[in-house]
Amino acid sequence: MSQLIYEGKAKKVFTSDTPDQYILYFKDDATAFNAQKKDVIEGKGVLNQKIATQIFQYLIKHQIPTHFVASISDREMKVDAVQIIPVEVIIRNITAGSLCKRLGIKEGITLKEPLVEFCYKNDALGDPLMIEEHIYILELATKEDIALIKKQSLRINELLQKMFLELGIVLADFKLEFGKNKKGEIVLADEITPDGCRLWDKETGKILDKDRFRKDLGGLAEAYTEVLERLSKF
Ligand code: UDP
Repeated sequence: MSQLIYEGKAKKVFTSDTPDQYILYFKDDATAFNAQKKDVIEGKGVLNQKIATQIFQYLIKHQIPTHFVASISDREMKVDAVQIIPVEVIIRNITAGSLCKRLGIKEGITLKEPLVEFCYKNDALGDPLMIEEHIYILELATKEDIALIKKQSLRINELLQKMFLELGIVLADFKLEFGKNKKGEIVLADEITPDGCRLWDKETGKILDKDRFRKDLGGLAEAYTEVLERLSKF
């Protein structure tokens, strides 16, 4: 019998019949602005499960260690149990979102190299930006862990940028989370879906990610379907 152990904004985590493995269940809930804006988008969970599965399989094929084990249903994925490091890693290729608001810069500028930012994963505080020193001095992760997370994040960015570009999609920015498994290894955890990425059609600039919900543009499920269809051809 699987038991609910955690419910997040877009996913639930259940125990599984295998020790040290969990089941991630992808919900249809959409939230933005630290959950001040909420809705249910029918089918989003299924789309995100499928997109995340494709992306994990692609990254694993390219030697990225992840928590992904298997896709077990339309909405469920088996993953290795990990202890999540409470740091959100944001990788930016093009200026957008909070970077522009915080520093007063224009959106859509290609950065001269990818920018890696760290935020403290804490909803009550609104996931504030942190510097590396906060992470190791406050003992959220060691200096070595941070170096590895940064290196992996940049490698993942290279792989994803290349993949999306082949599908006619520009990866402006995205968020990653890492965890430590039973063996003490740091692996990519959580999910990579359009909920946590900025994806723009290369030709038209059409927004294919959660900004459709944040900006009330509509057509979120249609946009995610487009991403999945393109990924399926990869
Ligand atoms: N992001 C996320 N979860 C968060 C914060 C950001 O998935 O809690 C993703 C977001 O979808 C975007 C990237 O990280 O692709 C950069 O987000 P930004 O810091 O610009 O945040 P915003 O203010 O736009 O939410």
